[in-house]
Amino acid sequence: MRTLRIGVLALQGDVSEHIDITNATLREMGLEGEAVIVKEKDRLDEIHGLIIPGGESTTIGRMAERYEMISKIKNAAFAGMPIFGTCSGLILMAKKVRDAKIGEMNQPTLGLLDVEVIRNAFGRQRESFEISLKIPKIGKNPFPGVFIRAPAIASILSKDVEVLASYEDKIVAVQQNNLIGIAFHPELTDDTRLHEFFIGMILKSPFKDRISKANS
Ligand code: GLN
Repeated sequence: MRTLRIGVLALQGDVSEHIDITNATLREMGLEGEAVIVKEKDRLDEIHGLIIPGGESTTIGRMAERYEMISKIKNAAFAGMPIFGTCSGLILMAKKVRDAKIGEMNQPTLGLLDVEVIRNAFGRQRESFEISLKIPKIGKNPFPGVFIRAPAIASILSKDVEVLASYEDKIVAVQQNNLIGIAFHPELTDDTRLHEFFIGMILKSPFKDRISKANS
C-alpha cells in the first residue's frame, strides 16, 4: 500500500462530509491518497489513520461493539495510528463520559483520551451555533467552529493531553500524542486546516511506515 488511506468510521453520522473534506485536503496537499469507508473491522488493517465522525455517540459505540471494532481500534491507537474524533468521535474517544442532564454515562467507548467529556455541554438554547475559534497550532486565522449538540471537555486526566482550543470557559479541542479530539464539526466547513494537521500527523507517524513495509 503506497498511497495514503485515511479511514472514516462509517457506522452512523456525517461520514460523507468527512470523506469529501479529507479527499479535498489530500488534493490541496498534493498527496496521493484517498479517504475510505470503514464499516467492518478488517478494513482497519488497510488504513494509515482513522476519523471518527459526529453523529450519535451511543449508536456509533453500540455498533462498534457489535462489529467487534472497539478492541481493534484501541490496539491500532496503542500501536500509534493517528485517530481524529469530531463531536461524537470525541465522546467515543474519552476515558470518562457524563451527560449534562443524565449524569454519568455508561455507553460503550474506546476510552483512549485522558479526558472527561460532558455530552450536550452547551444546553438546549444553544443546540447549534458557529463561532470563531483560536487554534494557534494550525495558524493565526480563526477557525469556524460549528457546534451541534456539542460536548465539551470538562477535565483533563493526564499531563499528556495538550489543549488546542477553548471557547468561553470550556475546552473544545485536545491532542494526546497520536490522538486528536474536538467538540465541533470541521467537515461542515470549507476550512481544511484541521484535516491537514491530522494528515500531517499521519505522515509523521511510525504507523505509516509499518503499514507501507508490510504491504509493499
Ligand atoms: N450529542 C451527540 C452525542 O452524544 C453529539 C452530537 C454531534 O455529534 N453533533 O453523540
